Amino acid sequence: MISLRHALPSSVVAARAVALRRQPVLLRCFHSSPDKKNNFAPVAESQHQQAPVPPTPDALPVRSPNFAYLKDFTAGELLSFMMIGTVASHKSLLNMAIKAFPYVPMPLIKAFVYNIYCGGENIDEVKKTGARLAKRGINNMMISLTIEACNGNENVNPDYIVEQTQHSVNEILIPHTISMLETSGKDINAIPPGYVALKPTGFVKNAAAVLKNYNSPEYKELFEDLVSKASAVCQTIYDANQRLAQLYPSRVAPFAVGVIDAEKHELQNGVYELQRRLYKKFNKVNSPVSVVGTLQMYLSESSDLLAMEEKLAKENNYRLGLKLVRGAYIHSEKNRDTVIHKTKEDTDMNYDQGISYCIDSILAHQGNESVIGHLVVASHNAESMRLATQKTYKSEFSIGNKNKANICLGQLLGMADSVTYDLIKNDKVDNVIKYVPWGPPLETKEYLLRRLEENGDAVKNDNGFPLVRSALSTMFKRLFA
Ligand SMILES: Cc1cc2nc3c(=O)[nH]c(=O)nc-3n(C[C@H](O)[C@H](O)[C@H](O)COP(=O)(O)OP(=O)(O)OC[C@H]3O[C@@H](n4cnc5c(N)ncnc54)[C@H](O)[C@@H]3O)c2cc1C
Repeated sequence: MISLRHALPSSVVAARAVALRRQPVLLRCFHSSPDKKNNFAPVAESQHQQAPVPPTPDALPVRSPNFAYLKDFTAGELLSFMMIGTVASHKSLLNMAIKAFPYVPMPLIKAFVYNIYCGGENIDEVKKTGARLAKRGINNMMISLTIEACNGNENVNPDYIVEQTQHSVNEILIPHTISMLETSGKDINAIPPGYVALKPTGFVKNAAAVLKNYNSPEYKELFEDLVSKASAVCQTIYDANQRLAQLYPSRVAPFAVGVIDAEKHELQNGVYELQRRLYKKFNKVNSPVSVVGTLQMYLSESSDLLAMEEKLAKENNYRLGLKLVRGAYIHSEKNRDTVIHKTKEDTDMNYDQGISYCIDSILAHQGNESVIGHLVVASHNAESMRLATQKTYKSEFSIGNKNKANICLGQLLGMADSVTYDLIKNDKVDNVIKYVPWGPPLETKEYLLRRLEENGDAVKNDNGFPLVRSALSTMFKRLFA
């Protein structure tokens, strides 16, 4: 893998970010930017010779956060929002909560935090969450059996995780997707696939060592075991896609997709190798993809990595499925200064360029011919979402193009609900999903901690006191209506 760091001072990077938003830039610059010294030939040039100017988020009106979504929540959930909003309203309060979090008794976490961010403890509860989301116009989910394992969690039983994940595909995702296809009254390509997120650290004991040393003879057998366990889940997904394609032949997008989650940077080389093995086995050319891998665009090497993945896919005759995220491990990254972009603006610019490039690649075709076959734009950032929406649904290349069913927008359950609401109600986007972690509350503790940390990452106007005020006012309106 190529490791490349931006040597530009942050002021220059910030100026470039502003420039990207204001000036027309041809998207092929993403891979051929001279200051990236990309060792790989710029890929998909021919697709993008005529690439349209990316719509600039600045050209669109800025929307203030819409709290109308709160009306769909119960009194208990409104109370939780008030508590989370209060904690997120001040950095020092949030830091205190983060420090205290490991010692907070489980019943309190369950009562105030778990139900906001997690979809349930078992399959029946997750099914109910899917039905509730559908009522809010969220047509599908990315479910994730969340058992945090990378720090040597002894409770991990890889066979149990494989078995439960396969159950979750057959008992949650497929029935939910069929029900949405049959009852929503929408076009066959309007309903997004059901996604199942796969944590590579859950498929083998001592996963961190296995992923870090996947190339060494000592760990070869364990790594092969990890690949075969992930493969077993993807085979279930692939088989379901083959079966359902017979029933719904006019659908362009897959029905179910396995998504490999990205982890801490030091584990990622092993994860990339796992992704490539799965792409090769399950993402056949000219067919919908069954596997999506994740790229963390806060990594300074990520644009080169995207180019390399596209090149490898072409050479080895398979298709890429991609979930683009900014990256969740900034607070725990040991080598933050060397592996992560220097500034938030730099990450933002890289993210927006990445999603623009992938969307253009997909929309350059009408069906499943593109090398990049499927994209999940996974973000809470309203500007990135507006850019993705503009390009996918409102550009001249998108009109009448069935391949836009291969572009999906996703947010985490309990986060950025105003962004999700805006996409559905104002932009009329059908391809929106929520990431729904599920599993025993104790096992989801690290996931919940990351969500708390993210609440304070940026000054967000849909959190803090505005959220507390709006939740309180929704509660009062309900009481006195
Ligand atoms: C559906 C879904 C799936 C996800 N799956 C994964 C996954 O598999 N792996 C994973 O790691 N994350 C995952 N995430 C989390 C994601 O990576 C982000 O942490 C989260 O979405 C917040 O980023 P944002 O795009 O919403 O934007 P914002 O809230 O605008 O940006 C916050 C992000 O910007 C970056 N950032 C903040 N400050 C700086 C700085 N000073 N310098 C450089 N960069 C900075 C960080 O990545 C931070 O998380 C997922 C998110 C979603 C919605």
